[in-house]
Amino acid sequence: MDSTAPELPILGQSGESPCESCHGGCCRTFVIPLTGADIWKLERDLKLSFWEFACRWEDPEGTIAQKYAPHFYFQDEPETPFVVGLIQAQSTFMPRTTKCRFLMEGAPDQEQPLGVSRCGIYPTRPSACRVFPTRFDTTGDVIEIVQVPHKLMEDENPIYNLCPRPWEVSDFDPVTAMEHLTTAAYEMRFFQKISQLWNRKPGPWNIFPDFLKIVYSERVMHGDKVLDEELFPKIIKFPQAPPSKEESEKRVA
Ligand code: SF4
Ligand code: SF4
Repeated sequence: MDSTAPELPILGQSGESPCESCHGGCCRTFVIPLTGADIWKLERDLKLSFWEFACRWEDPEGTIAQKYAPHFYFQDEPETPFVVGLIQAQSTFMPRTTKCRFLMEGAPDQEQPLGVSRCGIYPTRPSACRVFPTRFDTTGDVIEIVQVPHKLMEDENPIYNLCPRPWEVSDFDPVTAMEHLTTAAYEMRFFQKISQLWNRKPGPWNIFPDFLKIVYSERVMHGDKVLDEELFPKIIKFPQAPPSKEESEKRVA
């Protein structure tokens, strides 16, 4: 593995994520759909241009979108639905296989015949990568761990095998996992709205990144309300003096 590959933070309470010693089967199997927020952060934090990490994937059957990511249409192919996602690249060690362009591959050896790979942009990875393999249950209050099959690709190459062990509840921190899911769902819903706007009058693909920049840079704007009692009618009154030691002890008891 590249020596600059970042260490994987411990995700949950169990101490070691299944990703620790994995070859990154998910980062080779799936096309990763992006939200506009993912694109903004990748451009901002990694100083990359859109064209260095994003592409459009034809998705006539909806197998990439999975009723989750939006379809965009473009002037040059007006009948084709596309999903905007991460670019893939050829694997360095596994000929004729592909991987996410950000996956940093470790060289195979006797102990790890598929190598150990790491996400090269872990702190900035897209929301779809952050939430895998979880989703909301039907109430939206509880996180479900999705059972990951041994393999999804028809390609027999073992580099496309998925998680080496089932995920456990203890692999996740409940607060962080909920934050990731909430943000991912919110941003994907917003991106759906952006797609409806774009698809009303599809433009050429080459202006798409500029269109996104305009939309996202207008997400924060000045309100027309002054900060006053109408908005904040109750001012919290703090006690004049801190409670005495006896009072504090009584409260704890
Ligand atoms: S961005 Fe990172 S986690 Fe996501 S697919 Fe690429 S390498 Fe894997
Ligand atoms: S295939 Fe499973 S264990 Fe391997 S990196 Fe992806 S999520 Fe982690």
